[in-house]
Amino acid sequence: MAVIEIGVSRCPLCGQVLTGISNIVATGHFLPFGPDRLWRCSDAAMHKSCFLAWEDREEFIALYNQVRSSQGRLDRMTEDGEIVVPGETEAEIKDRLRKRQHSYKWNERRARKEKRRIKDDTE
Ligand SMILES: [Zn+2]
Repeated sequence: MAVIEIGVSRCPLCGQVLTGISNIVATGHFLPFGPDRLWRCSDAAMHKSCFLAWEDREEFIALYNQVRSSQGRLDRMTEDGEIVVPGETEAEIKDRLRKRQHSYKWNERRARKEKRRIKDDTE
């Protein structure tokens, strides 16, 4: 999964910094190569609003699902960028989302710490 640092990482679609963990769409590294317009969004997080308005969204989703399926993976991306695993129970979904949030929060803390360190160095 991409290292997403809230307050540091930028949305590849609009170039703005990601400011929260809700309403983002994220993928792991699934595209080793490909057209830049799609590749920049592999192993990245983007605003959900940007993702939904993205003209290449359908192509990106189709490619994601095709690649994952060719790897024997079960997870699929839905129309709105959510990753679903067929047959996953409610509890498993919750657990997966909790883990994901946990890793974002961890990165957020690290980014804040890094910012403080840079500030301290310059003062
Ligand atoms: Zn954006």
